[in-house]
Amino acid sequence: MSSSSNSSNDFITDKYLSWGRIPKVSQEIRYLEWLSDAKFPKSEKSILARGLGRSYGDSCLNENGILLSTELYRRFLDFDEKTGVIRCTAGITLEDILDVALPKGWFLPVSPGTKFVTVGGAIANDVHGKNHHVAGTFGCYVKKMALLRSDNKIYEISPNKEIELYKATIGGLGLTGIILWADIQLVSVKSGFFDGEFIKFSSLDEFFEINKESGKKFDYTVSWLDCASQGENFGRGIYMRANHSQKDFSELPKDPIKLPLIVPFNFPSWTLNNFTVKAFNFAYYNKQFSKFVKKTVHYDPFFYPLDVVKDWNKIYGKNGFYQYQCVVPRDDNDKAIKEVFKTIVESRSASFLAVLKEFGEVKSPGMLSFPAPGITLCLDFINLGEKTVKLLQTLEDLVKGFNGKMYPSKDTCMRGSSFRAFYPNLNEFKKYIDPKISSSFWRRMNNS
Ligand SMILES: Cc1cc2nc3c(=O)[nH]c(=O)nc-3n(C[C@H](O)[C@H](O)[C@H](O)COP(=O)(O)OP(=O)(O)OC[C@H]3O[C@@H](n4cnc5c(N)ncnc54)[C@H](O)[C@@H]3O)c2cc1C
Repeated sequence: MSSSSNSSNDFITDKYLSWGRIPKVSQEIRYLEWLSDAKFPKSEKSILARGLGRSYGDSCLNENGILLSTELYRRFLDFDEKTGVIRCTAGITLEDILDVALPKGWFLPVSPGTKFVTVGGAIANDVHGKNHHVAGTFGCYVKKMALLRSDNKIYEISPNKEIELYKATIGGLGLTGIILWADIQLVSVKSGFFDGEFIKFSSLDEFFEINKESGKKFDYTVSWLDCASQGENFGRGIYMRANHSQKDFSELPKDPIKLPLIVPFNFPSWTLNNFTVKAFNFAYYNKQFSKFVKKTVHYDPFFYPLDVVKDWNKIYGKNGFYQYQCVVPRDDNDKAIKEVFKTIVESRSASFLAVLKEFGEVKSPGMLSFPAPGITLCLDFINLGEKTVKLLQTLEDLVKGFNGKMYPSKDTCMRGSSFRAFYPNLNEFKKYIDPKISSSFWRRMNNS
């Protein structure tokens, strides 16, 4: 690992912004390459490991510090094809794992809505997917990992060894050390296809009706919500539920051909407005003609619909965008999530894709893991400056009042006082932070 090679002094480049492209910060970039000579980078500045920057806010940024990119640090170290345990360096992506493991009958145990994230990033945010209600988070499948800390020792940590450091590192926002490699338990599958059902609903109450039976019968559930419509279309959407297909190879459709579309430049800011957002939501809701559709689908369009457009985040223009994700506990008549959703719709600021899902009871191993039992809502907001920040803070206060919490990986605006309220294990977690590691998010939380 040549952690000091390819270093370049403070500069701002599109490549090392976060996915929401706010804020734009200056940082020094270095690269991890080889495991064999792993050394913690020497510098007076603070260090932060970085995956592919698919976090939306500033948790993957380190303003005026060093960002240690793992994009070149991509190696498989071992794969036990009998047990499905794969050992890989932290820069391996979920796409890499699917490419290698699926032909052997193994699949990711948990996946977020993009496969362009690294194993290090998936662990540090303890990411969740459409199967949270039955499978829990990514961290539940990390059997062991190696963590390099600034004392230049490599700690092998697992649910049985250095247990507290392990729990702090899962969902630990990269603050406890640099993850060098990890052992991930994959799940056995017959193919990369899913038997899915897609059901249109016309209100949030109908969503909850469908949701009640779906969680018991389907391992994967998620809904798209139209956040642009009020009145009689308020709370309409499409419920998607699926299980790994048990069909034989001969019964399956062909694998889709991958033809990535590219957004080559930032869209001008006028291209996104209430009209275009409303038109998109209308078209998306009506692309499914019947109320109920049943079909067998490949994992790519089902899990990763946005991955087909490379750099889709540039659609929001050079001012970037905010993403927002909260979870609130279920309560009487689901008052909390309805109130949050109503506030968003009435603001007329929401964007294309809003996602609604119920998290389950499976406990996350991480001290700071985000998922908790309840309903989670996730969506983008076009950056309209102060107006958007105010709306996000209103939502933050609402969520706090309903005993919910917000997801750091999606955040750019949360105040430290809310973060401390959302994450009561914070004081315990702080004992395991590496003194040479920091991030823009962490400093923001401590200074507000
Ligand atoms: C289209 C899209 C859909 C998404 N859907 C979901 C979803 O469904 N569920 C969900 O949970 N998230 C989702 N996300 C968020 C994304 O999964 C997480 O932010 C993920 O952590 C990003 O991984 P990354 O490799 O890009 O890491 P980065 O964003 O670069 O970094 C994330 C964190 O990991 C730390 N880190 C990275 N590598 C290491 C390492 N080697 N050692 C220690 N720390 C490290 C960084 O310091 C940082 O704190 C989505 C993002 C996008 C763009």
